[in-house]
Amino acid sequence: MTGIADRVEHGPARPSWDCASCGRAWPCDPAREQLAAEHGRVDLAIVMWDHLEEAARDMPQAPASELFDRFLRWTD
Ligand SMILES: [Zn+2]
Repeated sequence: MTGIADRVEHGPARPSWDCASCGRAWPCDPAREQLAAEHGRVDLAIVMWDHLEEAARDMPQAPASELFDRFLRWTD
């Protein structure tokens, strides 16, 4: 049920975590819409926590507060 992994559009390009389609910081607006459509609010938060943890491993220099805003704040 990961969905996004088998789509070419608006998925994260690792390890930069820019969108593979539009090049903006992932999750870009279309990716957020897609994620919100695919998951309920609680599932969405769980999925984004997983992405945040992976992104933190890929980008250890990124401030945690910045990653939190980017990956989780919009899910509220
Ligand atoms: Zn995109």
